[in-house]
Amino acid sequence: MSEQPTVKPPSPRLPKTRLTPTVDSVTSIASDGSRRDLHPADVHGRFTTARRWSGWGLIAFYLVLPWIPLNGHPAVFIDIAERRFHFFGYTLAAQDTWLLFFGVTGLGFALFFLTALFGRLWCGWACPQTVYLEHVYRVIERWIDGDATQRRELAAAPLTAAKAGKRVAKHGLYILASLLITHLFLSYFVSLPELWDMMQHAPGEHWAAFLFVFIAAGILYFNFAWFREQLCIVICPYGRLQSALTDDHSLSIGYDAQRGEPRGKLRQEAGVGSELARAVSAEARASSLTHAKPGACVDCNRCVQVCPTGIDIRHGLQMECIGCAACIDACDEVMTRVKRPTGLIRYDSFAGLTGLATRWVRPRTILYGVLLCVGIAVATFAFSTVKPANFLVFRTGGASYFVGPEDVRNQFMVRLVNKLTVPATFIVSSEGLPAGLHQSGFEAPVTLAPMAESVSPLVLVARRHDYHGPFKFTVRVRDAAQTFTLAREVEFMGPDAHLLKEDEEHDKESHERKP
Ligand code: SF4
Ligand code: SF4
Repeated sequence: MSEQPTVKPPSPRLPKTRLTPTVDSVTSIASDGSRRDLHPADVHGRFTTARRWSGWGLIAFYLVLPWIPLNGHPAVFIDIAERRFHFFGYTLAAQDTWLLFFGVTGLGFALFFLTALFGRLWCGWACPQTVYLEHVYRVIERWIDGDATQRRELAAAPLTAAKAGKRVAKHGLYILASLLITHLFLSYFVSLPELWDMMQHAPGEHWAAFLFVFIAAGILYFNFAWFREQLCIVICPYGRLQSALTDDHSLSIGYDAQRGEPRGKLRQEAGVGSELARAVSAEARASSLTHAKPGACVDCNRCVQVCPTGIDIRHGLQMECIGCAACIDACDEVMTRVKRPTGLIRYDSFAGLTGLATRWVRPRTILYGVLLCVGIAVATFAFSTVKPANFLVFRTGGASYFVGPEDVRNQFMVRLVNKLTVPATFIVSSEGLPAGLHQSGFEAPVTLAPMAESVSPLVLVARRHDYHGPFKFTVRVRDAAQTFTLAREVEFMGPDAHLLKEDEEHDKESHERKP
């Protein structure tokens, strides 16, 4: 009996296949539609360092904002209970919600303008998805599971006690981080002391907040532990929008194909024995094409290995690219080691990468810039018109007016809101009233506590012989120091004056005819 040839099983230490990104498919999704985990390699360089500092700065900013008191409130505090929005010492009431329009459109115009100029700078440097994933969750992952190779090996290894322990530790820390981020987010709406108070009581006493934290932390955990780059690729509309906002002169991260192609085989310039050299030379050996005059790209695949969305930037700008600049640092490191000029992958426009001059001033940037300037001017004007008080005059429920034997009466309610963080005194007056009309209510100034409001009646009575039909008048509110004034035009309603007079005469005649 002939001896069967022994087949060597694949090493559990190595991934089954190396990913080969194409422009027509998403590397993180397998051909059967299942999720394929990416393990981007660690990278070092100037952009990675700068992103780390800016990421930590943004996280610190998020963490400390609720702790900074300004005018007696946290720097950013959306006080749902009191319907107030405190923004760096500036307070807006619920009645000022219309200003949000300018905030949202201003952000939109700014995004248009910056995207037309700088592409996806926001995605790679400031988007919370990237910031938390790169600077919190991946840090935990590296700490527990090791570098990309170790993570891949661990993922491929059978479940052992050691692996289970690592998984429990990693996911436990993920959950802790998600809970911390969510609790801090909640403190933007309820303030830190209130949050601390809630945390010391049973969830049933504040079930809405508890449910919010529970669901939001669950979503964060799902997103950062598993979904990750899929959010950028599948869900976020900005990636799709950018293709409509950018053009050949917008800054992006690109590969200089003129310099890089044809890709050439690398000799051992990368440094024998180094991790980089192993990665570089393995790829280079696989790419055994030898060109008479190879381009600068040594086809080491390092730019692909570090990419958090699993694409090959050498295929050109792709929707999946979040502009994280990891491939720039990776390629610069390779170029430095092989003693070639850096910048094979770099921040540049498509025009710049093809040897043309980048035009920063163009119709698109002018249009977006003008829209942004108009938006800023209008928003500045709108915010400057915000007064430290709000008031509303509304008619009481029931009939619009009351006709009595002697008079015609209108009843209103006046709602006054002191938006200041100190007590304020207001003088309420009615202007443009016809002679003989009697006002009751607001005879004396009204003093309101900080951020307090009051609702008080205002009654106007016109004697029948002074009444000449409906008319409009103005209710005016001033502060005691006369620094601002607010006015509302209101209508005094009533019956037709002639009909009322005829009715009155008819009543009089009837009365006289009575024996
Ligand atoms: S292609 Fe480069 S810049 Fe784009 S996501 Fe990948 S590593 Fe980041
Ligand atoms: S890292 Fe640079 S040299 Fe290596 S494959 Fe990418 S572009 Fe080519």
